[in-house]
Amino acid sequence: MEKIININERKPEGSRFDVAIVGGGIIGLSVGWKLLQRGLSVAVFERDQVGSGATRAATGMLAARAEVEPGEDDLLPLTLASQNLWRGFTTELETASGQSIDYRDHGTMIVALSRDEVDRLRFRYDLQQRHGLDSIWLSGSAAREREPGLRPNVVGAVFSPQDHQVDARLVASALKTAFLKAGGVLHENARVVSLERSCGRVTGLSTGNGSYAAGTVVLAAGAWSPELLPGFDLPVRPLKGQALALRMDPRMPALTHIVWTEQIHMAPKGDGRLIVGATVEDRGFDAANTAGGLFALLEAARQALPAMEELAIDEIWTGFRPTSMDDAPIFGEVGIEGLVVATGHHRNGILLAPVTARAISNLIADGRMEGPEAAFTYQRFQKNSGRLSGGA
Ligand SMILES: Cc1cc2nc3c(=O)[nH]c(=O)nc-3n(C[C@H](O)[C@H](O)[C@H](O)COP(=O)(O)OP(=O)(O)OC[C@H]3O[C@@H](n4cnc5c(N)ncnc54)[C@H](O)[C@@H]3O)c2cc1C
Repeated sequence: MEKIININERKPEGSRFDVAIVGGGIIGLSVGWKLLQRGLSVAVFERDQVGSGATRAATGMLAARAEVEPGEDDLLPLTLASQNLWRGFTTELETASGQSIDYRDHGTMIVALSRDEVDRLRFRYDLQQRHGLDSIWLSGSAAREREPGLRPNVVGAVFSPQDHQVDARLVASALKTAFLKAGGVLHENARVVSLERSCGRVTGLSTGNGSYAAGTVVLAAGAWSPELLPGFDLPVRPLKGQALALRMDPRMPALTHIVWTEQIHMAPKGDGRLIVGATVEDRGFDAANTAGGLFALLEAARQALPAMEELAIDEIWTGFRPTSMDDAPIFGEVGIEGLVVATGHHRNGILLAPVTARAISNLIADGRMEGPEAAFTYQRFQKNSGRLSGGA
């Protein structure tokens, strides 16, 4: 379904910035960079350092095919569209910034470690086939040929040759450089405390250090986005994820592909880290790394990859996925003039960054969203539920 939204004629004259963006995660930075390319003046306000929220916690998988779940048929065209944009986005970003983002195109393998797991993996594989996705069924021995470090009890696998990865932290750093080189204004350590309003419309924002006027404010504050809309039921909540990195010998990496089991994923990075993630916990903003969470990750990794026992632990962390009511992102207006949201990306915010940047830059610069992104407006929640007020 295609939807066209026009907001251009509402832009007031004499704004300090055409667009002010709350949040310097992958979403805020990608949107800001694309808007600069459309000739608009843009400022990003980040309360810490750019990329310090969920972006820093992300594994960086671009796994539209492996991630496909029953009941997420609407999301698939969006994730595939963004995955198709990633290679060009990488080239453009690395050229603009002069920095590598460690785009690795070895594909993703989902392994089954028992006969029961094979049955469930077959179900996932059949779902991928029904969607016409190009995944390949592998026997246990074929899987171990690709990844000799896997335990012999691997009895089957699904290989997705087009599910790749980047290093999300390098992406944030490159986006910062590209954004600044393109003329963007970046305020780090600048918490936005409120949105400025006049006659019911958002006209800018306030930090502890002052107020900034803007034609449009983009709310891209991840799991914290609802805090800036008190009294408004933006359906986004934090979903905690614990993860860790092991240190591999870069000359003899323990894995080459991203490998998923039923419990975890393991993603080898170009700098020698092997990321093992991630828990999914509905615990608000509880940032603790727990013994149980880390034990579950390490034990599940050991079940698939015995050699991990010898690897040093490099880092442990938690992050908060910005998760919407239907696990899909929210793009565009929410019924408050001058305000556009770009949040709710849940477990796919890295994958969905290019399509989000396209959606929001088209909406603000051209007054409309087209393509699969047009189905992901806030209005879908108003239609399905009488619970949301829609008012400011
Ligand atoms: C453990 C884990 C693993 C993941 N792995 C993947 C993966 O492999 N692939 C994938 O596609 N996705 C993954 N994700 C999801 C992905 O990380 C998120 O969807 C994505 O980072 C969301 O980006 P964002 O910019 O919206 O939010 P964030 O990165 O959280 O950025 C929001 C920013 O807003 C700032 N902010 C908040 N409030 C304010 C304020 N008042 N004023 C100014 N700034 C403010 C924050 O400091 C933060 O920097 C993972 C998430 C987790 C937790």
